[in-house]
Amino acid sequence: MISLSDVQAARERIAEITYMTPIFTSTKLSQICGNQIYLKSEHLQKTGSFKIRGAANKVIQALQDGAIYVTAASSGNHGQAVAYIADQYRIPATIVVPDNVSFCKENAIKGYNGHIEKCGTTSRERLPRAMEIAKQENGVYIPPYDDPYIMAGQGTIGLEVLEQVQDADAVIVPIGGGGLISGILTAIKESNPSVRVIGVEPQLANDTFLSFQNKQITSISGTNTIADGLRTNQPGDLTFPVLMKYLDDLVLVSEDEIRQAFSFVMERMKQLIEPSSATTVAAAMFNKLPFQGKKVVTVITGGNVDLDKVSDLIVDTHMC
Ligand SMILES: *Cc1c(COP(=O)(O)O)cnc(C)c1O
Repeated sequence: MISLSDVQAARERIAEITYMTPIFTSTKLSQICGNQIYLKSEHLQKTGSFKIRGAANKVIQALQDGAIYVTAASSGNHGQAVAYIADQYRIPATIVVPDNVSFCKENAIKGYNGHIEKCGTTSRERLPRAMEIAKQENGVYIPPYDDPYIMAGQGTIGLEVLEQVQDADAVIVPIGGGGLISGILTAIKESNPSVRVIGVEPQLANDTFLSFQNKQITSISGTNTIADGLRTNQPGDLTFPVLMKYLDDLVLVSEDEIRQAFSFVMERMKQLIEPSSATTVAAAMFNKLPFQGKKVVTVITGGNVDLDKVSDLIVDTHMC
């Protein structure tokens, strides 16, 4: 299991290549939620999501170990992050993406000089291919979440939040494979255990919710939630034990609640965030949190959304 010192080491290692992202507030949002809400803005991070933190920590370590090539299997933010970091350090990266990858996502990866290889439509097909290429090319496969360096890198958000929002009572974090929340849990619970950490999943991708209830890793079959960064089937072998040790609570949000939160943030705060991030705002807006009157930080994990999908996400929020 990773510890606070791993997260602190990651922070030093990635400091030059990542931003310390700002915190936003909205009086209206705080009123609606009955809590004082702070948004940690990783949609303004390099490459448009927090994934750069873990990817940078892992790739820099791989370089120190002599790697000359990296691969990843991802259709989204992780692929962009790995391509970006590899480009910064002038080593080639191959990103294995699904056959039906969107034009925008393919272009973003190519923009960072990443090589694209298309392979099937499921991660079950992509992952072995990315590992195979890594092996052939003397490279290192960079996993999306179930890896100590990835987890420690994502955890650097926790250290920043503790500094940026003094006396925070709670931090709300979305859960896909659990790399992000396991890093943040380690950073926060080993610095100040009185800060509560609450996970959020879409009702349609409740694998970690079920695992947390059952106290063991439980999988679900494929999911189509609009929160595409959270479409995992089960939590990771390394991430899940950290959740079991430290997580205070885990709440679920509906697709409609995600759309309403997305629309609110766009209309009122003028920020384009992605549906995976809107889950944390939704949890606060729709009274899923087990407290009121607290200082609450919602982690806005990313802002990468294909513009042609935005109109499907906009609904009347009835709250403005
Ligand atoms: C990857 C991702 C998540 C989930 O992170 P995990 O480490 O898989 O739990 C949440 N939001 C966005 C925008 C992501 O890209």
